[in-house]
Amino acid sequence: MRIAFLDPGAAYRELKPEIDTAIARVLDSGWYILGPEVDAFEAEWATYCGADHAVGVANGLDALTLALRALGVGAGDEVIVPSNTYIATWLAVSAVGATPVPVEPDPDTHNIDPARIGAAITPRTRVLLVVHLYGQPADLDPILALARAHDLAVVEDAAQAHGAAYKGRRIGAHGDIVCWSFYPGKNLGAMGDGGAITTNRADLADKVRMLRNYGSHKKYVNEIQGVNSRLDPIQAAVLRVKLAHLDTWTARRRNMAQAYKAGLAGQDLTLPHVPEWADPVWHLFVVRSTRRDALQAQMTTAGIGTLIHYPIPPHMQTAYAHLNFDPQDFPIAQKLADEVLSLPIGPHLTGSDMGRVIMAGSA
Ligand SMILES: *Cc1c(COP(=O)(O)O)cnc(C)c1O
Repeated sequence: MRIAFLDPGAAYRELKPEIDTAIARVLDSGWYILGPEVDAFEAEWATYCGADHAVGVANGLDALTLALRALGVGAGDEVIVPSNTYIATWLAVSAVGATPVPVEPDPDTHNIDPARIGAAITPRTRVLLVVHLYGQPADLDPILALARAHDLAVVEDAAQAHGAAYKGRRIGAHGDIVCWSFYPGKNLGAMGDGGAITTNRADLADKVRMLRNYGSHKKYVNEIQGVNSRLDPIQAAVLRVKLAHLDTWTARRRNMAQAYKAGLAGQDLTLPHVPEWADPVWHLFVVRSTRRDALQAQMTTAGIGTLIHYPIPPHMQTAYAHLNFDPQDFPIAQKLADEVLSLPIGPHLTGSDMGRVIMAGSA
């Protein structure tokens, strides 16, 4: 039997009666755009994240783009982004007409290195856009201090970090605005696309609420040029069911991460490093190896699905050819792209699956 890297249908099999009931409730209600189901999910998600406000949008990329628009970021502005991230982080910056300015990660955590941010700040910098990559929080305190010192906003890309905590407090409102994706493969995943922002700033919540719905609070009264990026009520109903199970699923991921760390210790691999202030949620379990391709082939032969997050760093994507970066402009991101391998992790895996992964990863 092959061990799948991801099994998006597993949660449905686990919760089928509850999810079917929730979906039927929306279908029966006749209310198919925004409305009570989206309101209820927004309230529950805000509470879970420890934030005053949550606003549901169509997907994670839109959450990032609308967050930047709500902050007034546009043409001529610069936004500091990690050199090591999923390309959506950069695309949101480009979508509002601003320029992404990459900063290298700490090679141990793979997250943006706060010590390198200062050198990238210019008079055009408006936002520090940090990513909690693989479900591990970035080192927020020094980043928030830099933002205060330079009068910048902090946007968090938390698309992989549902439930993660920094210094004991859940991700959700450390920065000015926090962006979430509920893509099916995320730790809290819908059965289609979905996204949200959370924030303690009423002004930003209000702005995103307008922007996602044609720039309007009141039907046919358009205050700004918005877009159509609304969280679907069917997805909101599914997310409400799944949210009640998120902590159980996170606990399973944490146990798996511990088992992998113990089982793979002593191998010729770099295992994930977790700073003492981080409570990661293990969206991904990423190991590093200088013989990564051979390791991946060995896993494939053993019937184990693995993926590379991410094989080409954003600065080397054709989409960013116009910025004229050289591979060695961001050597840490490049090295990580060459060495990382994500092992399967998630509530769909059993203890015996984990044993097989460990066996296959052992030389
Ligand atoms: C998934 C993801 C996104 C984008 O989310 P979508 O819902 O697919 O648009 C953004 N940033 C990161 C880090 C992601 O992992």
